[in-house]
Amino acid sequence: MINTEIFKLKQTDADYSDKIAKAAEVIKSGGLVVFPTETVYGLGADATNPEAARKIFAAKGRPSDNPLIIHISSPEEAEGYAYTGDVYYQLAETFMPGPLTVIMDSKDTVPLATRGGLETVAVRCPENKIAHDLILAAGKPVAAPSANLSGTPSATSAQHVIDDMMGRVDVIIDGGDSEFGIESTIVKIDADATVTLLRPGKITVDELSSVCGSVKIADAVTNKLREGERALSPGMKYRHYAPTAPLVLLDGEVDAAISYIKKQGKQRAAIIAYEDEVEIISRALGNSDCYAFGKRNDEIAQARILFALLRKIDKKNYDIIYAPLPSLRGVGLALYNRMIRAAAHNVVKL
Ligand code: AMP
Ligand code: MG
Repeated sequence: MINTEIFKLKQTDADYSDKIAKAAEVIKSGGLVVFPTETVYGLGADATNPEAARKIFAAKGRPSDNPLIIHISSPEEAEGYAYTGDVYYQLAETFMPGPLTVIMDSKDTVPLATRGGLETVAVRCPENKIAHDLILAAGKPVAAPSANLSGTPSATSAQHVIDDMMGRVDVIIDGGDSEFGIESTIVKIDADATVTLLRPGKITVDELSSVCGSVKIADAVTNKLREGERALSPGMKYRHYAPTAPLVLLDGEVDAAISYIKKQGKQRAAIIAYEDEVEIISRALGNSDCYAFGKRNDEIAQARILFALLRKIDKKNYDIIYAPLPSLRGVGLALYNRMIRAAAHNVVKL
């Protein structure tokens, strides 16, 4: 057990720089620091130190073939670690700093432990001020996966981090709730400049295409991997974001969802419902375990609360959880990708 220190931190605090310097020292000496980003909380360590990278895998219980994203303080810093090119800089100019991760061929400066034994490395330049200042003060790239135990929903508040990581890391920086709430968009740039979306996020396919032309969407973004199929992104093959009770995604209008749930009988069910539909559903089903999930077309609001909602519901030991199937459009694709995994692809067409 590590004696975890918690730093509650706001930019306006008089000791802001001192705390950042202290956390940066922990990173430099091979320790683990959880820090906020604009997507979800990250579990950081020195990306150039293989021992430190191994500590991340141990703290999360993460399989060591699932590579870590390295976080840098400016897009140009990628030069030290990856073979960049024009497409990288086109994307960087528009989306960095911000919630975009780019995978390119790796230089030898990134230990194999950090990149899960792959030839490639994932690079991101976060916009969150605390994340940025921490990386800058550490003077090294910071390897950071999401700061949750492997398999559980990513942490979007300091309390989630404390629930999962107390005693497993040296420092937790509490910077408040995550702004976006879902992990970064991940693209891979191939040697022939093809851009493939591996994980959808706040930066949408249309936004990416407007900068770098056509974007391929990896099959695993929306579909189950077939038996024996190799995932382009190793993380795609693992069960993820999953609550203990089975989650079922309902594909259809609210009336059809109500009839379907009614027919399923007397299970203790939690229902995740769009804010504007909570009242109709609770009244029709006489069920008070209905959880509001932002308005129907407000994917940004839904993204912000998805993981918190899954964690909250999971604590109450329901038999089953129902939620609406998100659309594939815009930020909907990111919600679809996370929720379909949490539901182990269990979708009912109404
Ligand atoms: P997390 O760190 O929890 O946000 O997850 C990071 C995701 O990025 C995982 O799904 C990894 O498998 C993926 N990833 C990181 N590095 C690479 C890489 N070099 N190639 C493909 N996927 C990667
Ligand atoms: Mg993760």
